[in-house]
Amino acid sequence: MSDKTNNFIAKKDLPVIALREVVLFPNLIMPLIIGRAKTITALEKAMAGDKLALFVTQKNSSEEIAPENLYSVGVVGRINLVVRSNGGSARVEVEGLKRARIIEYSSIEPYLLAKFESMEEDFARDPEIEVLLRSILDNFFKLSEGIKPIPHDFFSLIKNIKEAEQILYILVSQLNMIGYLNVLEQQKILEGNIKEPLKEVNRRLLEEVEIMETEKKLAKETRKQLGKMQKEVYLREQLRSIEKELGLSGEKSEFENIRKKIKEAKMPQEIESKAVKELERLEKMPSFSPEVSYIRTYLDWLVELPWSVGTKSKIDIKKANQILEEDHFGLEKAKERILEYLAVQKQVGKIKGPILCFIGPPGTGKTSIGQSIARAMGRKFLRISLGGVRDEAEIRGHRRTYVGALPGRIIQGVHSVKVNNPVFMLDEIDKIGYDFRGDPSAALLEALDPQQNYSFSDHYLEASFDLSNVLFITTANVLDTIPPALRDRLEIIEFPGYTEHEKFHIAKDFLIPKILKEHGVEKVVEFGDEAVKTVISKYTREAGVRDLERQFAKIVRKNVRDLVENHRAKKEISIKTADLRKFLGPEKFLSQLAEKKDEIGVAMGLAWTSVGGEVMSVEVTRMPGKGKLELTGHLGNVMRESAKTALSFARAYASKTNQDFYNFDIHIHVPSGAIPKDGPSAGITIATALISLFTASKVRRDVAMTGEVTLRGKVLEIGGVKEKVLASHRAGIKNIIMPKDNEKDLDEVPKEIKKEVKFIFAEDMEDVLRTALRGKPESPRLEPKSLIAQRPYLS
Ligand code: ADP
Repeated sequence: MSDKTNNFIAKKDLPVIALREVVLFPNLIMPLIIGRAKTITALEKAMAGDKLALFVTQKNSSEEIAPENLYSVGVVGRINLVVRSNGGSARVEVEGLKRARIIEYSSIEPYLLAKFESMEEDFARDPEIEVLLRSILDNFFKLSEGIKPIPHDFFSLIKNIKEAEQILYILVSQLNMIGYLNVLEQQKILEGNIKEPLKEVNRRLLEEVEIMETEKKLAKETRKQLGKMQKEVYLREQLRSIEKELGLSGEKSEFENIRKKIKEAKMPQEIESKAVKELERLEKMPSFSPEVSYIRTYLDWLVELPWSVGTKSKIDIKKANQILEEDHFGLEKAKERILEYLAVQKQVGKIKGPILCFIGPPGTGKTSIGQSIARAMGRKFLRISLGGVRDEAEIRGHRRTYVGALPGRIIQGVHSVKVNNPVFMLDEIDKIGYDFRGDPSAALLEALDPQQNYSFSDHYLEASFDLSNVLFITTANVLDTIPPALRDRLEIIEFPGYTEHEKFHIAKDFLIPKILKEHGVEKVVEFGDEAVKTVISKYTREAGVRDLERQFAKIVRKNVRDLVENHRAKKEISIKTADLRKFLGPEKFLSQLAEKKDEIGVAMGLAWTSVGGEVMSVEVTRMPGKGKLELTGHLGNVMRESAKTALSFARAYASKTNQDFYNFDIHIHVPSGAIPKDGPSAGITIATALISLFTASKVRRDVAMTGEVTLRGKVLEIGGVKEKVLASHRAGIKNIIMPKDNEKDLDEVPKEIKKEVKFIFAEDMEDVLRTALRGKPESPRLEPKSLIAQRPYLS
């Protein structure tokens, strides 16, 4: 190419041929039709000379040919062939040679003549362009395998080319042909702004490839589906002919069978007529219709639902009481409330009152008391979990138009127990959410609310089912995440957790006998009292007894295995405290006090989480910095705010110590980072830890505290007192500071705990610090001046 180039570079001026809606590129041969007088003249001039011309694209194809209407970069091209037609226009074939930038026009009439300089191709050295080109080619290739019309010789052509610019220009012309590049973009590439248009092309191609691949996948799936359906039709036909052969008129009897079942199901009148109608539709349908199986499934659901089947039950309050006592230790309040509920039910037949909701940490007997209620009423029991349900359709079912539609969980539940009056427990209603697919809690309320559930409508059934005979019981770990509309209708019965004393009795009288029976070693294994107490205090730390049950089961399992493996005669095995290590490993929970000393900047707080009360330590530290506040440990927004309040208070309190708070950063951490924590009740704990840090006085480790703090150091009321006191007792901490306003809540705390724990009721932080800090710093009485904030902390 270099001689050609030299040839025309030597030249000064070349005639200009204006192009409309196309861009010529070097190394490409392009057919053109030339018709306008000015271009024809330019063509003639070129043909009279060395057949070279400058081919420049017009900015706007409707404007006349003038320098200002043309781009300033074009291509020097050689005209290889000219065919004139009668009308004066000419068909020519041009070969692009080299890019050129126009310097100036030396003449405008009767044709354009321009001075130019040729442009070097240097982009090949840019690796990004190379990568882009490769990707475009790759996608191009993928498209050509699909449906896009790309000439096949294009790829063989491309394969043999080594130079990037050549590949680029060929590619560009192809892309133009199949509509991936517009004129403006082509011009940009010609001018050397290559990356941007290439990126854009690459994006478009990628999109196309993705669409193509999705189309392919869909087509494949449809083929599969069709294949399955054809097989079904084929089998059905075979079945039919076999039945004919055997003299059974199969289908007829099948339809008769369904008709009989519809009659027997004793549905409400309008649903029965709907079912009959669907059956008639089915009878008329050719057996290969895909709808056949949908209608059959639908009819199956209709006839199998217990429209009017219920367990006969009679409530005997005395017997119910006896059953509840038999199955559960303690839980006096819950039992009492349940018996009242049953009494009312007996009196009025159907209860139109609130929905029962058992609230408490896991393992506190909610489910098992539900089972007892069913037993006491002589009804079936069933339980589903609503944790994670976010879609209304899960409660109310999908409409039949959906492929694979089914009724919602409520109807499925009733269907599975085959009676319309079970005790139906819905677990984890505090864990249902909602999103764009509708609010499940509204559908749930419709199912649960005795005022409206006599006609609960399920989308799939397209009919309403009477749920008013079902006794619904809901359960939740915490109250505050239950959707408010639902919460309003609930009658809350609390299951706050057990004391060690209660756990001991539950273990001895209920858990252990049950486990021994389950493992067939009732008279063989026995647990010593001390061992039971040790498992409770050293191997578990929970509000309920679920983990406890697991630990006992583990011990029993290991003993059973030993018995079986060693063919030992069934002699009595007594589990002692000393044996526990062998079965359960080293003790898991040491007293949280035992190995810990009083420290500066660490205070013990009490939290209330979904697994009951918990003791948590709050740690604070400071380091050189600029007065920033760092909070870690998976803290919720309320807790973060409360920490900031505590910090402001602590700074005001400690301002007499003349510290410059802007020379250091503060870090507040609440360990057990994986457990989310929220709420304002850690306020006084954080404030105490901070004041301990600022005044260098140690915090007592045998004191736990809970309470919200205000900017002025007042201590405000908090929730979950019983749970927190139990947790503190479990952890062996026997001094508890709590807000004065919570004194009334101690009524709920079991007596044996009240005997062992010392309560300190605080009205303000002075009361807290007096107990919590060793050698409490001299009290700088809070003066208004000291409460004026200095510069705020950044956080
Ligand atoms: P929840 O439903 O509250 O998570 P469960 O009802 O599953 O708890 O209780 C876990 C285990 O503890 C069950 O085996 C249950 O029988 C037993 N349990 C819980 N509380 C008591 C109690 N007060 N008396 C006897 N057993 C209990």
